[in-house]
Amino acid sequence: VSKYAKTVAKQGGDVKQAAVLGAGIMGGGIAYQSAYKGTPILMKDIAESGLALGMKEAGKLLSKRVSRGRMTPDKMASVLSSIRPMLTYDGFDSVDVVVEAVVENAKVKHAVLAETEKHIRKDAVLASNTSTISISYLAEALERPENFCGMHFFNPVHAMPLVEVIRGEKTSDETVARTVKYALQMGKTPIVVNDCPGFFVNRVLFPYFAGFDMLVRDGADFRHVDKVMERYGMPMGPAYLMDVVGIDTGFHAAEVMAEGFPDRMRHPFKGISQMMFEANRFGQKNGIGFYKYE
Ligand code: NAD
Repeated sequence: VSKYAKTVAKQGGDVKQAAVLGAGIMGGGIAYQSAYKGTPILMKDIAESGLALGMKEAGKLLSKRVSRGRMTPDKMASVLSSIRPMLTYDGFDSVDVVVEAVVENAKVKHAVLAETEKHIRKDAVLASNTSTISISYLAEALERPENFCGMHFFNPVHAMPLVEVIRGEKTSDETVARTVKYALQMGKTPIVVNDCPGFFVNRVLFPYFAGFDMLVRDGADFRHVDKVMERYGMPMGPAYLMDVVGIDTGFHAAEVMAEGFPDRMRHPFKGISQMMFEANRFGQKNGIGFYKYE
């Protein structure tokens, strides 16, 4: 963790109670990591099935720790009980930080953020885990844009150390400091970055996906590309990575990147992620993407 992040964190208040909106791949992971590192968290979704999935995922990760002898069953039970799944905003008036992790759609995020702002304290931080959408643009839905920033985790949340903290045009220093502090509390490595579509990491990652798209279009077998990239040293190849991320999420994010950088990221052909999205192949989340899953 950089000296800068530590200095910034010193200016931020402790996060005693957190909340996450959305219990999907990312929301479930954020809830697990927060609870595991000692910050209780409310996890809100709009679907009971989403909450069940989020809790199941957290339970699986904790059971692994117990079976490896790294955690006692009692500790597992106490971590699980510090994640409170819910369909309402009950208890949101006592949270210090809320992380929004609903679908990658600006319209939905605007509505969810505006609604959430009405249920939280005036000094609470509201952060978005958006992969690509500009934080200043999302802030337009809010009455207190100074309390809003990006808090971008990577997938899988428990394994990936980096968190991008994104400063929008109106984000205050206190908001950045408290968000950095929460990232440190969660055992992560925060970096503070400026706002633009894709922020830092996805500006690097999406051109990589575009290169993969072109290789496949030129006749390469995606399985072969994956194997070669693994040998190169990547933990997984681009096709498998897209399946893990969720092809629906990847496609929506690619659209935001194309709108943000039309001269560089808008291609004159239909991307593979769009074709897969239209064919309902969303990756691991629905059992079929580039690969098939049981
Ligand atoms: P997901 O589809 O797995 O989960 C989204 C969840 O949000 C679902 O459970 C859905 O029921 C819930 N939801 C929808 N509307 C809601 C609302 N109004 N209130 C509460 N919950 C609601 O999606 P995901 O992959 O977890 O992505 C969530 C966000 O995180 C997106 O903005 C995405 O870009 C970002 N992100 C994703 C990844 C990734 O690898 N999947 C990585 C970093 C960031």
